[in-house]
Amino acid sequence: MSNPFAFEPLAPVTARISDSPLLFPVHRIYCVGRNYAEHAKEMGSDPTREPPFFFCKPADAIIADALPVPYPPRTQNFHHEVELVLALHRGGKNLTLEAAAECIYGYAIGIDWTRRDLQNDAKKTGRPWDTGKAFDASATLGPIHPRSAVGELDRGKIWLSVNGDLRQQGDLGDLIWDNAEIISELSSLFELRPGDLIYTGTPAGVGAVGPGDRLEAGIEGLGSIQIEIR
Ligand code: MN
Repeated sequence: MSNPFAFEPLAPVTARISDSPLLFPVHRIYCVGRNYAEHAKEMGSDPTREPPFFFCKPADAIIADALPVPYPPRTQNFHHEVELVLALHRGGKNLTLEAAAECIYGYAIGIDWTRRDLQNDAKKTGRPWDTGKAFDASATLGPIHPRSAVGELDRGKIWLSVNGDLRQQGDLGDLIWDNAEIISELSSLFELRPGDLIYTGTPAGVGAVGPGDRLEAGIEGLGSIQIEIR
């Protein structure tokens, strides 16, 4: 059979699974905005009046935790946001909370990298967030830990340090929308598919980093990952 492609397609995006030779094939990346009250306040909003919301990154924005993160162009204010990432092996539309919980294959530590200056410009002008949020290498992803190995992750510390100084800390139990609520809500807007990743939101303490900075990010039950900015 002849090659149907006009040019060679790029390799599919994959993520590493902890203690397994198998790869997790990535479909889409969804992100939750302002899902911890203290972070919503530091971003200048009132979490009692504005519920969390969603935005997306392209799947190939993923960068494995083993790789240094390139300092991105066109920003003077490059921010870290440590987040619990849900990795789905099932999907669907209009899922109940029970069905939503069963979609979770596993969990990972992720960083939702943000060009805060470009995001803030977009907020002011009412334009899309893509340049602030959905740029190349904007989604660090640690290994996926299967739910069958680590159990349900609905509480436990989440933290991030820069050059040894603790910058972000929170508890998964403080998420405004919990894991099943996020998936159920998202499935009323999009048809979820196996391979979808969901960055569930960041606790307070986001801040700027620069080339040469070394970060460590951890979630109780998943260990920690280390990242250098280049
Ligand atoms: Mn975020």
